[in-house]
Amino acid sequence: MRKTKFLKLKLREASFISRGLLSSRHPVLAHLIPMRRCNLACGYCNEYDHSSSPVPVDVIKRRVDKLAALGTSIITISGGEPMMHPNLDEIVHHTRLRGMIAGLISNGYYFTPERIKRLNKAGLEYLQISIDNVDPDEVSRKSLRVLDKKLGYLSEYADFHVNINSVIGGGIKNPEDALTVARRAVELGFSTTVGVIHDSDGTLKPLTPKEKDIFQQVKKLGNRDHARLNWFQDSIAEGKPYNWRCRAGARYLYICEEGLVHWCSQQRGYPGIPLEEYTMEDFDREYNTEKWCAPACTLQCVHQVGILDNWRDPQKTPAQMAAEQEKKETVGEMIRVE
Ligand code: SF4
Ligand code: SF4
Repeated sequence: MRKTKFLKLKLREASFISRGLLSSRHPVLAHLIPMRRCNLACGYCNEYDHSSSPVPVDVIKRRVDKLAALGTSIITISGGEPMMHPNLDEIVHHTRLRGMIAGLISNGYYFTPERIKRLNKAGLEYLQISIDNVDPDEVSRKSLRVLDKKLGYLSEYADFHVNINSVIGGGIKNPEDALTVARRAVELGFSTTVGVIHDSDGTLKPLTPKEKDIFQQVKKLGNRDHARLNWFQDSIAEGKPYNWRCRAGARYLYICEEGLVHWCSQQRGYPGIPLEEYTMEDFDREYNTEKWCAPACTLQCVHQVGILDNWRDPQKTPAQMAAEQEKKETVGEMIRVE
């Protein structure tokens, strides 16, 4: 990424962070899914199929417009594999036209010099690729050996920020792979982060001493801003719950291919309201609702968004929120009768 563009992006990020600290009444980050289909089938993933069609670009543009109207700062296009969407460049460009930061999460398979140049032109600002291992196995083919050539293209041609995420925990066979991936990312001039994942049955288990050692080494190689923002990972690495306020459904939105708003990729169905009907009343309800799944949550980006508001506005349980709503409705009824 060119230095001038990088500095501009950093300034824009800083202004969005200040705006997020000054006001809690707009979404900071939205994950938008234009395509559920994926070319891979990772063993741990529940976010893909092999048959669905891309969402028509006009429909996606209307969703981008609605997110802009809600005051969203950043849209990250995700999937499935969003690079399979035939109009991805147009979606990125439209996001930029509406004044938001445009990011992309991809498995990296479709990057060629020509595709990278098109994304440069569309105005992409941020790309994240997760690499799970060095050599492909029965669980994941998001592997350094397969993707290294693509990373070389990105290093040469990308005029956007590239972050490579490696993973540790969850019974991953060779924990030292995370270190190999992170070292290669740094060598190519990318930033690098590491995700701590749950055991395959979803329970919190402490990392083994070897995994912990590798986790610390990868963190040292990585983006210092991210390391500062990811304190929760130290608790998860110890197998301990982390106490924080998840603002999903408000400051963070997950918009599925059907255009419904969900808390996140792992809690689809809550609240499950169409984006076009989403109001600030929905925003306030979700902002104030305590999420039962928060103590064991490993979703880095939602944690990072949560930091903006962790110090303010304590949340209530869904039962307390429902009782409060009922009280409001009863008072409203009495006033109407009066
Ligand atoms: S590449 Fe991503 S979306 Fe596709 S199966 Fe793997 S984790 Fe899921
Ligand atoms: S705590 Fe984590 S899993 Fe639960 S809604 Fe928030 S982001 Fe999703």
